[in-house]
Amino acid sequence: MNTAAIIVAAGRGTRAGGDLPKQWQFVGSKRVVDWTLAAFKGHPEINQIVLVINPDDVDHVVELKGVLVVNGGETRDQSVKNGLLALEHSSVDSVLIHDVARACVSKDVVDRVLIGLTKAKGAAPAIRVSDALWFSNADFVEGTRTRDGLYRAQTPQGFHYSEILDAHKRSTGPAADDVEIARQAGIDVLIVDGHEDNLKITTPEDFARAEKLLRGHMDIRLGNGYDVHRFGEGDHVILCGVRIDHSRGLQGHSDADVGMHAVTDAIYGALADGDIGQHFPPSDPQWKGAPSDIFLKHAVGLACSRGFQISNIDCTLVCEYPKIGPNSKAMRSRMAEIMSLEVDRVSIKATTSERLGFTGREEGIAAIATATLVKI
Ligand code: MG
Repeated sequence: MNTAAIIVAAGRGTRAGGDLPKQWQFVGSKRVVDWTLAAFKGHPEINQIVLVINPDDVDHVVELKGVLVVNGGETRDQSVKNGLLALEHSSVDSVLIHDVARACVSKDVVDRVLIGLTKAKGAAPAIRVSDALWFSNADFVEGTRTRDGLYRAQTPQGFHYSEILDAHKRSTGPAADDVEIARQAGIDVLIVDGHEDNLKITTPEDFARAEKLLRGHMDIRLGNGYDVHRFGEGDHVILCGVRIDHSRGLQGHSDADVGMHAVTDAIYGALADGDIGQHFPPSDPQWKGAPSDIFLKHAVGLACSRGFQISNIDCTLVCEYPKIGPNSKAMRSRMAEIMSLEVDRVSIKATTSERLGFTGREEGIAAIATATLVKI
C-alpha cells in the first residue's frame, strides 16, 4: 500500500485554555502538532503526510519539513476534503485521516488500522463503552441508556483513497467523522481496537495527561561507534562526506570516511544491530570504493523502520592534520542532509592527541561517535 496520512489541524479549539488553538500549544518539549506529525513520520508504512491548517495559522508551519501543508475549509468535512484533493495527482492508494489533537496515537493503533485496510475498504479504531450511560437535561439523572454495541470512535480512520475521496465529493451535510461520510457512500468500515491513551486533547487536564503519556512512551537509545583508517598514498581525504585536500589519503575498502563510519556504527549500536562490517562485508566487492553515505543512509533507514528518530549525533575526529575546524560547518551540513536532520542536531568536532600514539604520529585518523535515538 502507498499510504498518506492527512492530519486535520484547521480547528479553532481553545477549550484547552490559552490564546492559541490547541494544536499550536506545547505538551512538554513539543507542540501538539509536532507530536502528532512525529507519530506518523516515524511510521515506516506512511509515505506522505498532509497537514490541513486554518489559513490564519500559516505562520505556525514555517519550520515543518517533509509535510504538504494545505488550507482547510469552513468545516471539518471541507478541511478533510481539501486534504484528499491535495493527493489527487499522487500515487496514494490509501489514506489515514487523523485529528491533530490525538497526539498520543501509538504505532500499534496505526498498525491495526493498516491491517484492517487489507480486509476492508474502511477501518477505524474505537473502544467499546464500558461505563453505564445516563441521560439528563439538568442536574439529576433522568434515565439510563443501554451501552450494548456502543463504541467511542477514535482516529486515524483509514480508507481506500479513491473511495473516500468520492464519498467526500458526494457528501452534502455535516458528519460526525469520516466514518459517517464513508458509510453514507456505502463503504463498510471495520472496527479495530483503539487505545485509552489515544485521547483527544481538549481540556487543560488532557494536556497534563498527554504530557505524562508522551514522557512515559519515550524510548531513548544511545549507541557509540569507533573507527580507524590508516594513511597511505593520496592527495585528499573524505571526512564526514566532505573532500579535503591533503598530502596523503586514507586507506580502506570503501571511501575510508572514518567519521561517517563511526556515526553509522553508533546508530547500529543504538539499535543493537551489529556493525557496519556485518551489514556491508568488506569481502563483498560491490562496496569497494563505495561512498559511505550508502552505509549511513542504511543505518538511518533501519532506525526509521523500527520507529526511531535520530535525536542527535556527536562525532569527534582525532588527528593532527588535516585541520578539521575550517571544514566542520560543511561536514555538519552534509551529515545533516544525509540523515534528514536539522543541522543543530549534528555535532562534528575534532581533537589532536598531543602528538601521542598512532594519530599523533600521523599514521591514521580515528573517530568516535555517539547517536541518540528516540521512539515516540
Ligand atoms: Mg571504517
